[in-house]
Amino acid sequence: ETIGTHFTRAAQQFADRPALIVRHQGVRWTYGEMLRRAEDVAANLLALGLKPGDRIGIWSPNNSEWALTQYATAIAGLILVNINPAYRLTEVEYALNKAGCAAIITATRFKTSEYVTMLEVLGAEKLPLLRHRIQIGAETHKGYLNFSALMEPASDAARAHLHEVSSRLQCDDPINIQFTSGTTGAPKGATLTHHNILNNGFFIGEAQRFTERDVVCIPVPLYHCFGMVLGNLACTTHGAAIVYPGEGFDPLATLEAVQAERCTALYGVPTMFIAQLNHPDFAKFDLTTLRTGIMAGSPCPIEVMRRAITDMHMSEVTIAYGMTETSPVSFQSSTTDSIERRVSTVGRIHPHVEVKIVDAEGRIVPRGTAGELCTRGYSVMQGYWGEPERTAEAIDAARWMHTGDLAVIDEEGFCNIVGRIKDLVIRGGENIYPREVEEFLFRHPKVAEVQVVGVPDTKFGEELCAWIRLKPGESATAEEIRAHCQGQIAHYKIPRYVKFVEEFPMTVTGKVQKFLMRERMIEELG
Ligand code: ATP
Ligand code: MG
Repeated sequence: ETIGTHFTRAAQQFADRPALIVRHQGVRWTYGEMLRRAEDVAANLLALGLKPGDRIGIWSPNNSEWALTQYATAIAGLILVNINPAYRLTEVEYALNKAGCAAIITATRFKTSEYVTMLEVLGAEKLPLLRHRIQIGAETHKGYLNFSALMEPASDAARAHLHEVSSRLQCDDPINIQFTSGTTGAPKGATLTHHNILNNGFFIGEAQRFTERDVVCIPVPLYHCFGMVLGNLACTTHGAAIVYPGEGFDPLATLEAVQAERCTALYGVPTMFIAQLNHPDFAKFDLTTLRTGIMAGSPCPIEVMRRAITDMHMSEVTIAYGMTETSPVSFQSSTTDSIERRVSTVGRIHPHVEVKIVDAEGRIVPRGTAGELCTRGYSVMQGYWGEPERTAEAIDAARWMHTGDLAVIDEEGFCNIVGRIKDLVIRGGENIYPREVEEFLFRHPKVAEVQVVGVPDTKFGEELCAWIRLKPGESATAEEIRAHCQGQIAHYKIPRYVKFVEEFPMTVTGKVQKFLMRERMIEELG
């Protein structure tokens, strides 16, 4: 099935049910209304002269136009290229040209990023392939078409052309170039098909037992698979309502949305849950309608999972593990797994996905041993767009995706992600998983957030370094933190360096960029 046929069927089945609620725009559309609008946008995009397989970029924070564009491009067979809202000149130029985008849909600005101004600076000279520029919002700059024009009722001829085009689409056609978070370096563009992401969205909704009675709060960015697949596609494959609390993540707006819309599910990376739980007004909100949701994207501290269950009423909260390259989810806990399992593992393998754990030589390791996680199945991307070499590094000849993550799978199939291979610290020959040290330090009463990295050391090869953000009003010394570790964890796991910070270098998806922490420490230590 294609995303177009899926959405048409969903819109018939759930016609009058709420599909999309965008709080900051006052948008409330039913499934029927959203399909009609998506079809208008799809037909009007084709009427501009765009053809199936053409790439179209979107550079915008979360809004109703983003969601419409996701479904409209899929219905029209255009390949949507999601552009990271944090990109600046060089990066957007690279991404648009790399994917060969013929069109771009952009917000005027977001926070300090002036998107239209940046595109004007680049101009036709730097972006020779770009034929159409579409602007979201009240302003319309010279040379731009306003998005509202795409939302006008399409002509009969345009609709007829759309139906002809969409009837020829195949489920294995690429539909999306999604960029990875850029946690370990430059983001990579994964080419994904209808089949990849639609099925993954369906199974993600199944794991949370979504029905048309669910209302799902999505404060994570749509540009990333967390928003567009775990969010939008898991909802529309189950008739659930999608709620965007704001353009970008804000803890207060998220808490308000959950209360006002009586949300039953809430998504986030761990740092987003931490920000809500620590918000001074947290206790004022009625969150009792929450039932489930997903915490994912980076290691989920056990304490944060527990507090989501007790203080946020998410008794059926799940953890998901995945990567953009695999549509994204491979492991997810299910609402029926024990709380113990749900807080301490990423659950079991998703239906129809194979998994193996291998050592450095590619041999399968015994159960319970850590090694590189590899996955295979319908969910593996076609490849990195226009980068056959990087694709061949990630996907081997037998179609196994090498994730770059270290994992352990127990006798019952529950998986523990121990960390990224790139983040593994080897100090004096001892393997140290930063995650383990982070879990320990996180339990210190003054610690709000902690990240641990390895920094080069002439004597030991690497030394551990902890960055700590303290809870508001607290103060501490490095010595105090180190003393707290004495006798509790092995001496070589006690961080040599402890640095107190207000914030961490972060991707827009809310992930900590440890490579930047390392770079900064190397500079500081000289
Ligand atoms: P880049 O590939 O550009 O460096 P990235 O790997 O963070 O960035 P994504 O595809 O957004 O880009 O994220 C996938 C990665 O996130 C996984 O490979 C894994 O390291 C991490 N991850 C995702 N979910 C979890 C989880 N539940 N627990 C631990 N780590 C997770
Ligand atoms: Mg990655």
